[in-house]
Amino acid sequence: MKRLVILGGGESGVGTALLGKKEGYDVFVSDKGKIKEKYKEVLIHNEIEWEDEAHTEVKILNADLVMKSPGIPDKVELVKKIHKKGITIVSEIEFASKFTKATIVGITGSNGKTTTATLTHHILKQELSVGLAGNIGDSFAKQILQHDYDNYVLEISSFQLDDIIDFKPKIAVITNITPDHLDRYDYKFENYIASKFRIAMNQTNDDYLVYDADDEVITNHLKNHPVQSTLLPFSLTKTIENGAYLDKKNIKITIQNNQIIMPTTNLALEGNHNIKNAMAASTVAHLLKIRKQTIRESLENFQGVEHRLEQVLKINKVQYINDSKATNVNATYYALESMDAPTVWIVGGVDKGNNYEELFPFVNEKVKAIICLGVDNEKLMNTFGNMVDIIIETQFMSEAVKIAYKISEAGDNVLLSPACASFDLFENYEDRGRQFKNAVRNL
Ligand code: ADP
Repeated sequence: MKRLVILGGGESGVGTALLGKKEGYDVFVSDKGKIKEKYKEVLIHNEIEWEDEAHTEVKILNADLVMKSPGIPDKVELVKKIHKKGITIVSEIEFASKFTKATIVGITGSNGKTTTATLTHHILKQELSVGLAGNIGDSFAKQILQHDYDNYVLEISSFQLDDIIDFKPKIAVITNITPDHLDRYDYKFENYIASKFRIAMNQTNDDYLVYDADDEVITNHLKNHPVQSTLLPFSLTKTIENGAYLDKKNIKITIQNNQIIMPTTNLALEGNHNIKNAMAASTVAHLLKIRKQTIRESLENFQGVEHRLEQVLKINKVQYINDSKATNVNATYYALESMDAPTVWIVGGVDKGNNYEELFPFVNEKVKAIICLGVDNEKLMNTFGNMVDIIIETQFMSEAVKIAYKISEAGDNVLLSPACASFDLFENYEDRGRQFKNAVRNL
């Protein structure tokens, strides 16, 4: 019996444990932190051996195969030891994909993964049997065990891609690449870019790579490191013969002379970035032969994803918008770009070495007041102090929302789009978004 050791007892770890057990492995789950009760119960119920708050090396270094959770960096001493012993380390998607024959759509990128994956799934599910997994909801491994989908849409982080060997999506999507998570990539942007492109490394010309042709990081990388995949770019600015582009107010997608045209005026999601996400999702749907009318309708009735430019409430003709998932400058760039009214902007949190310059034109044009919320307020005050009449700082969400309420007027937007991580005042971005929504509802 082969021994499968799983480092990390979270969603992907426990999913892999269940799948591994069913496939006949001797499974051991080890987590340096505390495993959540709900996961412990699953492990106990399924008679899978586990430990938490420790990594017992003798029980780990005798593995035939190790599945490492994406949260664990390669630099960790234990991981180095595993490598040194010559034990293969894989990520969950690598392990799980061996046990399904489903067609896989893999979506990666710095921003827009969840939105594009959810939208793609929303379109495909109208006509196909399809699961949505990866960083979303139940793990891919668990879904393979519990369902028999013919297709999967997977949201895939660079950390998952770092530990793939044979994983090959039929259709890969790279939404965009901007600097993020550089601490895991020796502070080298090039390493992070290469990690994203691993999504296409096993593809052949029967497979497809859908990507943003307006993103120079992507196009330059492709020029210098060509891939085997059939390329299907999308663009807001250029005419694209094979792929998608914006022709006046219509999205035109052409794949092998088969064209679909969709008006952008009817899209459920606002903002240029969402036109790109819609292009990526409908290119995938068009490839998988979803009917044109279904694609059009699905783009119109998509409900959006929580914490991504989510319209919360209108109070006294002021629209409150929750974009808590904007944890970097690029995401906030698109949020501000899509604002169609004077905006009171709530920003801040843990600054990741942000350069705010690209936001200046939008701040000058659209932002009437700034409320800084978080540990790194001083930098924000110094950066934006001269650009707006009102700039205020606080350490409390409820206070930030009350100030926004006081200084906004009919016709304004109040936008939470932090451009920063949330771990100073909140558990995570979801907690931050929920606190914002609660504070708005309590006004
Ligand atoms: P991810 O899963 O990659 O973090 P999300 O879909 O959760 O992406 O969106 C994260 C943030 O980025 C949100 O603030 C959202 O409004 C913004 N965003 C969504 N799509 C894009 C895009 N294509 N380009 C830039 N920002 C985007």
